[in-house]
Amino acid sequence: MSDKRFAVAIDGPAGAGKSTIAKAVAARCGFVYVDTGAIYRTVGLAVRRAGADPHDAAAVAPLLPGLEIRFDYSPDGSQRMYLNGEDVSGAIRSPEMSMYASAVSALPAVRAFLLDMQREAAKVHSVVMDGRDIGTVVLPRADLKVFLTASREARARRRLAELAAKGDGSTFEQVAADMAKRDHDDASRAAAPLRAAEDAVTVDTSCMTLEESIAAVYDLVRQRMGEKSGS
Ligand code: C5P
Repeated sequence: MSDKRFAVAIDGPAGAGKSTIAKAVAARCGFVYVDTGAIYRTVGLAVRRAGADPHDAAAVAPLLPGLEIRFDYSPDGSQRMYLNGEDVSGAIRSPEMSMYASAVSALPAVRAFLLDMQREAAKVHSVVMDGRDIGTVVLPRADLKVFLTASREARARRRLAELAAKGDGSTFEQVAADMAKRDHDDASRAAAPLRAAEDAVTVDTSCMTLEESIAAVYDLVRQRMGEKSGS
């Protein structure tokens, strides 16, 4: 690796394959993978535990200064999340935490609270960072911005398979309905709504296998790195 840091921003709706693809591309490039959704989920978990309404800014904002949120990496490249010293990497992965994360992520105070933490990671390492507003807000000067998407049906199918593998008994209808709600909430909120950055490359993975999707994004990274080193 050269000592010049490189930042890849990957945004898109739930279930487009962002985290799996981002993680694999980061591993191939020797970059750090930063899963920002996990950070919002951790705030969601803290709010749930405090018994606060995740939609209520006045109830959530006072909790934030008391949260110590950290993340680090396992040898396999997966991100571990810590809330006040406790490893909550498993606890944040339930459908309930998806909804809590989505609710708290609409609050400007929460987004402001997490902004520096995300930017800091990209100052220290070359990163592949995935989320909803990475190319538009967190890393507006990222070297490469990818907007990763897929049809809602394809995304719901994939998310269902992921949940089933973990023993969760959700049905396709439940997963598709949760996804439609999250899509709507993420895209229509006032604070950092989900949208592609103007200079993002859109990759639609509906008809791609996982390997093809990884290769497509990896090729974009290689190409952009080549352009950067030649400029
Ligand atoms: O990506 P993941 O499904 O784990 O994200 C959970 C929720 O966190 C999303 O539905 C979205 O509302 C929110 N989020 C966000 N901005 C990010 C990452 C996630 O608003 N950068």
